[in-house]
Amino acid sequence: MKRVARLPRLADRVGALLRRAQPFAYCDDCIARYFSVSPPAARRAAREVGAVDGFMRKTRRCRTCQRMADVTWRTRPTSPWLLAARAEEDF
Ligand SMILES: [Zn+2]
Repeated sequence: MKRVARLPRLADRVGALLRRAQPFAYCDDCIARYFSVSPPAARRAAREVGAVDGFMRKTRRCRTCQRMADVTWRTRPTSPWLLAARAEEDF
């Protein structure tokens, strides 16, 4: 079951970042630093994004800090909710 309609704002921004950064994967800590949010907030958002069709979330090496961690990345070019999020691309 994909929770498409109820993504919080931060998850939308994380999704937009990962879409641009595709195919690179980023850990929650790096996402937290990038958006200046707390690590728990970043983790929540990354989990939301990782549950969306077209994104993946697994333990892998982070592109930025090179640590093994739970990272999230984009696997496919199209996803319905991203069309709605496109207006936010210039956050
Ligand atoms: Zn990292």
